[in-house]
Amino acid sequence: MMNLTQLVLASHNAGKLKELQAMLGNAVQLRSIGEFSQVEPEETGLSFVENAILKARNAARISGLPALADDSGLAVDYLGGAPGIYSARYADGKGDAANNAKLLEALKDVPDSERGAQFVCVLALVRHADDPLPILCEGLWHGRILHAASGEHGFGYDPLFWVPERNVSSAELSPADKNQISHRARAMDLLRQRLSLK
Ligand code: IMP
Repeated sequence: MMNLTQLVLASHNAGKLKELQAMLGNAVQLRSIGEFSQVEPEETGLSFVENAILKARNAARISGLPALADDSGLAVDYLGGAPGIYSARYADGKGDAANNAKLLEALKDVPDSERGAQFVCVLALVRHADDPLPILCEGLWHGRILHAASGEHGFGYDPLFWVPERNVSSAELSPADKNQISHRARAMDLLRQRLSLK
């Protein structure tokens, strides 16, 4: 692996940059794609992997630097992996509360034994825009969809995601605790190993 000191993160979200930088450590500096462009690419892939690669290539092309992208979401077994890559816009862009309401409705009367789900995070790192060998790291966080929302922390589907190893919803975990065990933490662990950062 080449010696990386800087990576452009293909996200305009300052919170995500801060969280991923904390997980990555200080050896590599993450810079925001917002320094280079405000335009976001269309996410035309059908999988987390495809969308992460597409975003990373776009960021590398725009910045001229190696780039990292993440794509994440919730995949529910009973729904064939939906909402999946469409997690953010499951209820047509009406926001987290509407997404959660739609998910509860889709799983109405479905028993606990069939409510398995995973949060997914795929990280893609390309050394340049046309890199034929992107580094791909996938973090899965297995849990179950609750019958009603619980907890005040986090965002998105956290209030509906039961975390078996803690016996709470992921919105009941402290942010620090969630960042130790989440799908993003798992993917980032793998990336640090691939980059020999630990
Ligand atoms: P993005 O990676 O920020 O685009 O996230 C995609 C969508 O997946 C979010 O808008 C959430 O709906 C969902 N999602 C991803 N990670 C989490 C999480 O840690 N908690 C809750 N929802 C998440």
